Amino acid sequence: MAEAAGRDAETAATAGRTPGTTLAGVIGDPVAHSLSPRIHQAAYAALGLDWVYVAFEVPAPLFGEACSGARALGLRGLSVTMPHKEAAAAFAVRRSPVVRRLGAANTLTFGSKGAVADSTDGDGLLDDLREGAGFSPEGRRCGVVGAGGAARAAVLALAGAGASEVLVVNRTAARAFRAAALAPGRARVTRPEELDGCDLVVQATPATMTERAEGLLIDPGRFGSGQLVYDLVYLPAAEAFWAPAAANGAKVRTGLGMLVHQAARQVRLWTGCVPPLPAMWEAVRPGAEPPAGSAAAVPEAG
Ligand code: NAP
Repeated sequence: MAEAAGRDAETAATAGRTPGTTLAGVIGDPVAHSLSPRIHQAAYAALGLDWVYVAFEVPAPLFGEACSGARALGLRGLSVTMPHKEAAAAFAVRRSPVVRRLGAANTLTFGSKGAVADSTDGDGLLDDLREGAGFSPEGRRCGVVGAGGAARAAVLALAGAGASEVLVVNRTAARAFRAAALAPGRARVTRPEELDGCDLVVQATPATMTERAEGLLIDPGRFGSGQLVYDLVYLPAAEAFWAPAAANGAKVRTGLGMLVHQAARQVRLWTGCVPPLPAMWEAVRPGAEPPAGSAAAVPEAG
């Protein structure tokens, strides 16, 4: 249903395009699965803006050319996803402080002087933790599983939000140390068992995209009451994987909220308008706008 509604919104928007229409989009490879067109298009429709947002599947070697073309064609901006986040940071003429720290960007905004790079992933996670899960990282012990781009954004965001400690667990130790180095004195590398004592555990690897979560270093049955497990993956497989934690009393939340909130920050950046969050949630999960201050036990996937 969400899929049909999203497609309708996209089709209607594209069909109604006029010379005054503002264009934006998402660039990645692959990108066909992306929920971003649905979320963004719903936002512009709710704001009454004549905007069209489309997906561009572009292989890595053509990224620079594609971005130069997008700028020349007058696109307002691009959401950037795998495998282009580092290339996006390098392409920009100006980078936000977070992009400079991460060396990666998920947002390009085109202006007369070139592209400006931002990263809304970390803030999107914080927004959803606070607004969707009622969790404030300040003074809390947080764990991050993974050390890739999303994990690094999470480490930086949680440390910046005042977490007392950020513990990093990863398959490849060298990458874990590089991620922990983003927050010196606050983040450190540890063993999976130490995450048992965390208030929040952020799962930031693709391992839970399959039901058996092969290779994942943590056991969902170890988590329980008083803990929030936040999986950046938002597929049904991830929910099934965390069921034992939920059965033990842990709060479990998928990354759909982070996806919506990182997009909301892009909408604000590009339009200057307050993002219409209910419409954006509705586009991916009708009727699923999360009540403030609560985390669904096992939320539905988008
Ligand atoms: P990435 O840069 O490729 O990093 C992947 C990380 O996962 C690495 O630390 C890697 O470990 C680890 N890993 C990969 N497969 C594993 C396995 N089978 N078992 C254990 N560890 C494994 O990817 P990313 O961009 O950080 O994305 C990570 C996940 O977050 C993806 O599923 C992505 O879809 C999701 N994500 C969600 C949102 C959202 O808005 N909800 C935003 C961004 C990303 P090594 O270092 O040992 O290779």
